[in-house]
Amino acid sequence: MADFYTTQVGDTLFTIPRRYQDLKPLGHGAQGVVCSAKDSVRGERIAIKKLVKPFQNETYAKRAFRELKLMKMVNHKNVIGLLNLFSPAHSIEDFEDVYIVMELMDANLCRVIGIELDHDRMSYLLYQLLCGIKHLHSAGIIHRDLKPSNIVVKEDCSLKILDFGLARAADKAFMMTPYVVTRYYRAPEVIVGMKYKENVDIWSVGCIFAEIVRGDILLPGRDYIDQWNKVTQILGTPPQEFFKQLQPSVRMYCESQPRHKGKSWNELFPDDVFPNDSKEDAHKTRLAVDLLTKMLQIEPTRRVTVDEALKHPYVSIWYDPSEADAPPPPKYDHCLDEKNIPLAQWKKLIYEEVISFDERRDAKR
Ligand code: AMP
Repeated sequence: MADFYTTQVGDTLFTIPRRYQDLKPLGHGAQGVVCSAKDSVRGERIAIKKLVKPFQNETYAKRAFRELKLMKMVNHKNVIGLLNLFSPAHSIEDFEDVYIVMELMDANLCRVIGIELDHDRMSYLLYQLLCGIKHLHSAGIIHRDLKPSNIVVKEDCSLKILDFGLARAADKAFMMTPYVVTRYYRAPEVIVGMKYKENVDIWSVGCIFAEIVRGDILLPGRDYIDQWNKVTQILGTPPQEFFKQLQPSVRMYCESQPRHKGKSWNELFPDDVFPNDSKEDAHKTRLAVDLLTKMLQIEPTRRVTVDEALKHPYVSIWYDPSEADAPPPPKYDHCLDEKNIPLAQWKKLIYEEVISFDERRDAKR
C-alpha cells in the first residue's frame, strides 16, 4: 500500500502517494481539478486529475465509470494514456475521490488558437487528431463532442485527445454543474437530434481546424437553436435531403427558418489567414481549403469520412500505418452507459475499476 500525503492546490486538497511531488495547477473541467506533478518513480512530470466523489450523482458516476473503462482500454499515441489510477481509501466504506494519473502535455488546443502556425504544423496537428479519432472509432466510440479544451498538445506539436465524448445514451451531461457546455463544435446531426455515424466527428474537426486557421470560433452559437442558426447563416441552408431525415417537429422548425445562401468558402477562408511565404504555401493553402470544404458539409453523406480525410493530400504527407491503422482496442460495451442502477452500485463499480488497476502496467508504458 502506497504511503499517501495531503497537499493543497488552489482550493483543492490532493491526497496522493509520496512518489508524486511538487504539484502545480493545470486546469479544471466539469469533473475536477488537474495538476502536474513530479513522479519520482518515472523520473518525469505527469498530470493528475482528481474526480471528487464521482458517484455523487448519476451523471457524474456514468461519466467517470465510462472514462475509467475507456482509458484502461485505449492505447494510442494520439489519445491520452492512463499511467496510474488510485484512491486513498482503505475500503469501499471510506471511498470518496478518484485520482487519474496521465501523461503530461503542455497545453490544450485553445492556447494554440491565435498563434500563427505554418502549414506543416497545422497539417500535422490535423493528421494526429484524425488518427486519434479513427482509433476511437475502431473501438466503437463515436466522440461527438470534440473541442479545443479536450485536445492537448506539446511544444513539439504532438497531440492527444483527452476525453471520450458523449455516451450513446441521451445526453443529459452536466445539467447539474455550473459549467457552460460548449456546443460550437457539435455537428448538425447532434444539434437536431438526427441519426449519426462516424463522420459526425469530422464536422468537429472541421470547426476546430477552421478556428486554428482563422483565429476565431467559426460557429459561435449561444444555445442549441442559435447553433443551428449559425450553421445555416454561415454555411448555407442544407439541401432538402437533410430535412427529410428529421423528426417532424424539428423538421417543421428548421424548414420554417429563412433560407440562407451562406458565405463563400473564399470569404470564410481568405488567402491572408494562411501562411503565404512561398509558392508551396499557396499550393498547401488550396489543399487546406479543399479539405475544410469537404469536412464542413452539413449533409453527412456529402461530408468526408475519417479515412478519406486521412488520405487527403493536405494530411496524407504524414501518413504512417502504425499510427493511422493501429490495431483496434477491444470494442466498448455501450450497455454500461445505459445502465440505470442506484448510486451505491455505481460507487461499487467505480471502486472496483480503481482497485483492479494494475500499477505494474505503469512500468510498461
Ligand atoms: P479535463 O478535466 O479533463 O476537462 O481537463 C481540464 C483541463 O486541464 C484541460 O483543458 C487541459 O488544459 C488540462 N489538462 C487535463 N489533462 C491534461 C494533461 N494530461 N496534460 C496537460 N494538461 C491537461
